[in-house]
Amino acid sequence: MLRIAVQAKGRLNEQSIELLNEAGVAVSMENRKFLMRASDFPAEIILLRDDDIPQTVAIGAADIGIVGYNEVAEKGLEVNMLQKLGFGGCRISLAIPKSQTYTGLEFFKGKRVATSYPEILRKFFADNDIDAEIHTITGSVEIAPTAGLADAIFDIVSSGGTLVSNGLIEVEKVLFSEAVLIGNPALSEEKMALARQLMSRFESVRNGIGKKYLLLNIPASALDEAVKLLPAMRSPTVIPLANSEWCSLQTVVDEKNLWNLIESLKAIGAEGILVLSLDKIVM
Ligand code: ATP
Ligand code: MG
Repeated sequence: MLRIAVQAKGRLNEQSIELLNEAGVAVSMENRKFLMRASDFPAEIILLRDDDIPQTVAIGAADIGIVGYNEVAEKGLEVNMLQKLGFGGCRISLAIPKSQTYTGLEFFKGKRVATSYPEILRKFFADNDIDAEIHTITGSVEIAPTAGLADAIFDIVSSGGTLVSNGLIEVEKVLFSEAVLIGNPALSEEKMALARQLMSRFESVRNGIGKKYLLLNIPASALDEAVKLLPAMRSPTVIPLANSEWCSLQTVVDEKNLWNLIESLKAIGAEGILVLSLDKIVM
């Protein structure tokens, strides 16, 4: 049985549980417990604070875990990076009061910088030869300059709204992060096989995001032209219709460009166009 560490509550919890559910590792958050057995997959979910996930996986109290890459980088523990998961995107940036003039990294020399990510910042300053004072706080870092606790901050940014509302501007983007799957470096062959199975399921779920299944009828005379318009995993499926002057085409398309594609297909005679939602793509 594979033990999977997931954030108990917070920004990554919902999407982590949803990804697991989509991948057939079903757990219900309604009667949540610290440790939950999944149905239909030999796994149990352990719910933790995100700060504790890298260590739990590093010592093998959990076999794999879903956590922000920022936490993995900060803790610097020995875990295997198994997969990027494509959600929870953010960056950790240096920000200063907007009343200050930014002169480049030199600005930070001799300054006090408040952060919850002291190790990432220490390394960044060391790599850039900046001697600054790092002031570690766990609470609301963004208020530190106003509160007179620091000259600048090093904190997580996603939209930047929090910075603006605290009179700060982002001046250096230091680390880009998203949710990642990490694994204990000494997993048994059996557990590694289960982890691999999950990774391939996660990939299938991700492949289906932003994709639609398109079905349409097209006059046989316009078939070549239609095939040229349609991307496909190999090539579109063509099915003859009872009326030999027509055929049916089926393929997977990107949602992004869907309407333009539909207009182009209509222009060459396509009819009966169906757009179906798509759950997973198993390669
Ligand atoms: P916990 O109680 O588990 O310690 P937390 O308060 O430390 O939770 P959250 O705010 O829930 O953490 O964020 C979890 C992760 O979500 C972050 O470590 C980061 O990887 C990611 N994230 C994405 N966008 C943001 C954002 N705007 N602010 C904070 N974290 C974000
Ligand atoms: Mg935390």
